[in-house]
Amino acid sequence: MAKRQLNIATDLSHFGEERADFAGAVVPPIFQNSLFTYESWDDISNAFDDRTNSFIYSRGNNPTVKIAQEKIARLAGGERALLFASGMAAITAAVMHCMQKDGHVIAVKNLYGPANNLLFNYLRKKMDLSVTFVPGRAVTDFEEAIRPNTQLIYLESPSSGVFSLQDLKAVATLAKKHGIKTLIDNSWATPIFQKPLALGIDLEVHSCSKYIGGHSDIVAGVVIGDTASLDSIFRNEYEWLGGRIAPMDAWLITRSLRTLPLRMKAHQKNAIAVASFLQNHPAVAQVNYPGLPSFDQYELGRQQMTGYSGLLSFRLRTTDLEQVKKFFNNLEVFKIGVSWGGHESLIYALAISYIKEMTPEQFAQTGLAYGDMRISVGLEHVEDLIADLEQGFTALL
Ligand SMILES: *Cc1c(COP(=O)(O)O)cnc(C)c1O
Repeated sequence: MAKRQLNIATDLSHFGEERADFAGAVVPPIFQNSLFTYESWDDISNAFDDRTNSFIYSRGNNPTVKIAQEKIARLAGGERALLFASGMAAITAAVMHCMQKDGHVIAVKNLYGPANNLLFNYLRKKMDLSVTFVPGRAVTDFEEAIRPNTQLIYLESPSSGVFSLQDLKAVATLAKKHGIKTLIDNSWATPIFQKPLALGIDLEVHSCSKYIGGHSDIVAGVVIGDTASLDSIFRNEYEWLGGRIAPMDAWLITRSLRTLPLRMKAHQKNAIAVASFLQNHPAVAQVNYPGLPSFDQYELGRQQMTGYSGLLSFRLRTTDLEQVKKFFNNLEVFKIGVSWGGHESLIYALAISYIKEMTPEQFAQTGLAYGDMRISVGLEHVEDLIADLEQGFTALL
């Protein structure tokens, strides 16, 4: 009889865990060891012949890490996943895998800041890469930017700052036609709500510090894709740059993955309620959230995603910085902090960093406003989140 394919929530509970090897423990042990010993010359020699799959040294493979990697690969529909010490370590490894010296990369304009810096301020100068940033809302943005030496198209959809979308299937088709690799940062939607590999994207990266970790207790990253690409990343960037994840953190990811489908549904439910509340509030000028029918790329989002996470932004009507600060400081349930995707609701304002570096005139030219707020809607009760925002707004009266 053909084996029935299990649902992903079931696989996240059990897949990849050889429990009979560990006394039936329902939670796997943490292999907190740097190396693995062998019985003989031939045994260790054979392990080296299959080094991408063997347990030799924990800068390469480790059994605790492998469990989390197998679950993530299964979840994203990839053949192999590699976990890294941070999202940036994963992004660096994936980009270095795709690029050769003197190559050209096309990236979306509103890329996560440190990834933008990696490409534009670091690799461009170190490796003589050229980089073109495009808005990415139209496939022609990418098509027009292609050069003979273009090696990579770097996507982030929805982008984590302004939430603009790229048509993943169309961009993947275009890239394949030109022999260009595609990479997406899928941290916002997670593989629960978006499966880029099935749409033809080559590599998917995540900051596992966000939803995949989900408890604000780890910094980690992952690259997911086909076996040939991931084996090459393993033999090169993984082992040589050495940015591997610690077994303890991988173990926490296995813990987190068991609840990922539940958590994402809860983030979505809370975020839709909060976004709708904000949209109807007189103190708010605009809400940017792909889950609202008023979002300008709502239809594209519906075509390529099956749900929405909890990170969104909105613009206060007031342009007075002192008023903005009053609202911001008045919140109690929403904590002030960077990052997102954890159990806790957070607020951050882009102006906090920008006004240090720019004159008010330069800031105005970015198209941002002092009242641009980014919130990560957590798993608290939605009534408390809305009441907290409401009492924040009373500071503006
Ligand atoms: C946080 C973040 C990253 C970087 O991840 P780290 O785990 O902090 O290194 C990459 N992409 C996006 C969209 C992020 O928000």
